[in-house]
Amino acid sequence: MKIAVVELGGCGGCALTAYKALYGQSGQVEVVYFPLAMDAQELPSVVDCAILCGAVCAQDEDTVAHLNEIRAVSDKIVAFGSCAAVGNIMRFFVRGNREPQPRQATHSAIRAFVGLEYAILGCPPPQKSLKKLMSLLTSADKGRINTYEVFAGIEKLSCFDLLDDVVARQLCMGCGVCEVSCPTRAIGLLNGIPEFTVERCIRCGVCYASCPQVTKMLRARQQSTDTDT
Ligand code: SF4
Ligand code: SF4
Ligand code: SF4
Repeated sequence: MKIAVVELGGCGGCALTAYKALYGQSGQVEVVYFPLAMDAQELPSVVDCAILCGAVCAQDEDTVAHLNEIRAVSDKIVAFGSCAAVGNIMRFFVRGNREPQPRQATHSAIRAFVGLEYAILGCPPPQKSLKKLMSLLTSADKGRINTYEVFAGIEKLSCFDLLDDVVARQLCMGCGVCEVSCPTRAIGLLNGIPEFTVERCIRCGVCYASCPQVTKMLRARQQSTDTDT
């Protein structure tokens, strides 16, 4: 499988994680394009899987054009990390004047610009998540990549989604997974229920993706879709 890894506009942490996960791997993946880490700067005409890191600045025409080129040559696109998948902390960066003409530099998830197949949340995500997806894509067992597909369809996530979909529906069982998964310690369990310090939330969506009740909900939704079709 020929892989491209491209940093679009984040802190570089996800690209570094992808580097660590992919380099030195023997076997079925070959990194053919990785401008941050290798000399070859030409985007190949065919890529099996592009791993994209960072959010996209809508006013950065070069990056938007490059993203469209990558989409055109790639069979699959993976948004790797919360900036690429849901915007994350990059959504807070809005610069520019509003007068006399609106011209602001705003950042969004990849999905706001091009379609994608898979997303892996995390700030940065663990190396093992990328290794696992790569191994599933190169194996015959494609049935277990469903979660990655589901998150590719979501453009924004924050602690409010966990609050709305789990806590407010009284589905929370107080397991504490959200608390330990939050990279900014924005969640603390009080009497077995998550409390959110919203000022600390960077909108990475990791608490949501890690919650076992969300996994159960998404699985049930998928099963009902499968039954309908
Ligand atoms: Fe950096 Fe986190 Fe964004 Fe990855 S998700 S590029 S680690 S800020
Ligand atoms: Fe509740 Fe989900 Fe957090 Fe567990 S991970 S404490 S079920 S919200
Ligand atoms: Fe991410 Fe934490 Fe905010 Fe959840 S509460 S979206 S884990 S920063």
